[in-house]
Amino acid sequence: MRIGLDLDNCIADLWGSALPHATEMLGVSVDLEDIVKWEMWECMGVTRDEFVRFHDECLSGAVVVRPVLGAIPGVKTLESEGHDVTVVTARPDEFAAATFAWLSTHGMDHIPLVTGATDKSAAGPWGAFVDDNLDTCMLLSQSVELVLLFDRPWNRCESLPGNIRRVRTWDAVLDTIRGHIIDARDR
Ligand SMILES: [Mg+2]
Repeated sequence: MRIGLDLDNCIADLWGSALPHATEMLGVSVDLEDIVKWEMWECMGVTRDEFVRFHDECLSGAVVVRPVLGAIPGVKTLESEGHDVTVVTARPDEFAAATFAWLSTHGMDHIPLVTGATDKSAAGPWGAFVDDNLDTCMLLSQSVELVLLFDRPWNRCESLPGNIRRVRTWDAVLDTIRGHIIDARDR
C-alpha cells in the first residue's frame, strides 16, 4: 500500500523536543499538554510572529529534534511489510535541506520526501496516511481509505469519521494498518 507519513509530531518529536527550550528562546514556560489547539501561539501566550520565529529556528537546528518513540523502527517495519512510504510535510521548501539531513541522520534518506505540502491529498493517491493535524485528516478522509490521526493534545475532538482512526503509539499505527489490510481482504 502507498502510505503517506507526516513528519512533525508523528515521526519527528518537534514539540516534545522544542518546548523545553521555549523558556530561553521565547521567555515562556509551556508543557506539551497545554497546547490544546493548532493555533499553538494562543496556548503559549506569544504572538503568531514570535511563534513562527521560534518554529523556524527549531527547524533550522536551534534544538535537537528527537524521533517520536517507536517511529524509526515503525517506518522500517512498514517498508519491510512491503509498503511504499513517503514523508509528506507542510514544512516550507526552504527547510527541505534541513529536513533531508534530519531524515538522513535517522537512516531514512532513501524515503521520498515532499515538502511544502499544503494539500496532502494532492501528493497522493494514498492507501493510508498518518498525520497529527485534525483538519488535514478530515480533508484526507474524503479521498483516503484509512487515515490515522496521531493523538496529540491539539487534535482531541468528540468524534471522527469512520475511516479516521486515532492512534497513540507507533505500535498502534502498525496494528491498525495490518487490521485494515486483513479486513479489506475479507470484504
Ligand atoms: Mg505534524
